[in-house]
Amino acid sequence: MMKNRYQSTSFQLGTPNARQAPPDIGLEVAFAGRSNSGKSSALNVITNQKTLARTSKTPGRTQHINFFSVDDTRRLVDLPGYGYAKVPKEVKARWQRAITQYLETRRSLRGVILLMDIRHPMKDFDRQVLVWCHAAGLSLHVLLTKADKLKRGPAKAVLFEVRREIAELHPLATVQLFSALTPHGADEARAILDHWLEFTTVAPCA
Ligand code: GDP
Repeated sequence: MMKNRYQSTSFQLGTPNARQAPPDIGLEVAFAGRSNSGKSSALNVITNQKTLARTSKTPGRTQHINFFSVDDTRRLVDLPGYGYAKVPKEVKARWQRAITQYLETRRSLRGVILLMDIRHPMKDFDRQVLVWCHAAGLSLHVLLTKADKLKRGPAKAVLFEVRREIAELHPLATVQLFSALTPHGADEARAILDHWLEFTTVAPCA
């Protein structure tokens, strides 16, 4: 087992807009994904905590940007889940503004982890995030979540297909399989975080 540097991560604050975020100093990695993509489960597995990301699920908080501190200078950021059923247009528009503003202006942001359910990858929202991050010069890593829902062969096929597709939208983005259930891929995801948050200086093989 690799050392888990994220198990003392704790909830810091939640805010509907980037203006009330914690001071923009130190290093941050943001987690983005459509509702039900498995974002909360992944955050819990990565930090080895059962209920960390539940904070973001409490009513009134679902549209918040939630900040979790790893230590004094490093944070994980849970962006609001997107695309749930029939969200009114104005809500989507407001959400998009908050997210783009955050992605475009946040100086401490080192990279974005984008979560996609392996059975429903590369939806409109996912493509937008890839394009935004590429335009903003932000590193991006994809977790294909719930990989346990597919057999090994089909899971690999999706992995290769998504790799091929994202290369056109964000040439430097990387992709891996992930399951919060088995769990599979947590060490690989933490290695990316370690690199972006400067715990390690050598880039992991993706
Ligand atoms: P979020 O809305 O993106 O935060 O998604 P959640 O983490 O709440 O997960 C949504 C649903 O997918 C829940 O019912 C989870 O139990 C389920 N889920 C999440 N991750 C996995 C996984 O790796 N494997 C399986 N089989 N189910 C998962």
